[in-house]
Amino acid sequence: MIFKSISSVAHLHLSRLLPRCPIQVRPIRAVGSDGSEDLAAALCPKYVVSVEYEVKALAIEHARAHTVPKPWGIVDLRPWSNARPDGSAIGEIRYERPGSEAADTSLLLKLLFTSQPLSIQVHPDDAYAQSIGLQNGKTEAWYVLSATPEAKVALGLKRRLTPQQLRQAGEDGSITNLVVWQAVSQGDSIFVPAGTIHAIGAGLVIAEIQQRSDATFRLFDHGRQRELHIENAIAVADAGPAGFRVIPTRLTDTRTLLISNAHFVFERIDLAPNSEWCLEAKQETWLLIVDGSARTVSSDVAKGDAVFAQSDRVNIHVGAIGMVGLVAYTGGLVSDLLQHSGLPAEMAARRLQEVHGPTSFTGATAPQRTDAWRLFNESVPARCIHWQSPSASLRNRYLYP
Ligand SMILES: [Zn+2]
Repeated sequence: MIFKSISSVAHLHLSRLLPRCPIQVRPIRAVGSDGSEDLAAALCPKYVVSVEYEVKALAIEHARAHTVPKPWGIVDLRPWSNARPDGSAIGEIRYERPGSEAADTSLLLKLLFTSQPLSIQVHPDDAYAQSIGLQNGKTEAWYVLSATPEAKVALGLKRRLTPQQLRQAGEDGSITNLVVWQAVSQGDSIFVPAGTIHAIGAGLVIAEIQQRSDATFRLFDHGRQRELHIENAIAVADAGPAGFRVIPTRLTDTRTLLISNAHFVFERIDLAPNSEWCLEAKQETWLLIVDGSARTVSSDVAKGDAVFAQSDRVNIHVGAIGMVGLVAYTGGLVSDLLQHSGLPAEMAARRLQEVHGPTSFTGATAPQRTDAWRLFNESVPARCIHWQSPSASLRNRYLYP
């Protein structure tokens, strides 16, 4: 979203124009009284007659974890969650942005807990989903967090079936012997493109990232009395062998690329004890803590916690035993996703408190570059700087260009 201020003193009162959410305001073009286009002059309003600002909705949020009962779930979710549902089996933890005003995300992050096999199922691609009035299809990826020795997943078929054969195999249950079951263990990554016939076996805890969609077509449900969708499944399934295990790619000392496709990038990050990082969330970004702990801008996070971020930078102060996280985001591979801020966490935290800006922020006005800001800026890479008003009701930040 781009706004133009017609006068240097007529600041935009953005809170009237935008939803009540934190925003990032960045001058992208300025015209001075002498006609020059000096962006730096936009910080000296006296000489500027026109400024164009780019405004982005910012978010760094500790995601809410919703437990979802499922017939194939488990009762004790520890160590992933302390939720104690009243005896009912929980099959999913679904992470959502907190707050009823939050816009829907395009990705869904879940934990899956299985004590029995899930249905043998398939998801539509975007084209098919849209042909039946849905917003998008469902491509998903899994990361195995824990697995019993006999745990397995199914992906694709042993041989290609005709639609009639697939219908028959779903109806008589013989599809359980036609899918390709593979043993999995902790740390495995699996890519499940839309159209792939698949199932998850018992004894697994899996982190799943997927396009936001509930379009699941069940071919077979192990005798559970839930609805099947065999005709839809036949219409969308690639009823033959599928690729299987993903070979992760080490990108840096800390980043391992698990899966990258048109809908999301899925990475694992391994951060050393007491180190400090800046996570670049250019677009919608989810971080799930799978081991260790850390402190982020908004909260302390540990195993089973998730953070949602968008158009923002998440400072991560890693705890004493390090942190392993899964990061999923839209918009293609981000080369500078993770930057070492190079300062011990304690020192950076102290410096942060020395940075003072204006106490209210109602328009596109940058806080002054105070001595404290300069001190901080000299110590930390500039791209990690953010300003936070201590008293503003909204969490406003200004990122210096
Ligand atoms: Zn699925």
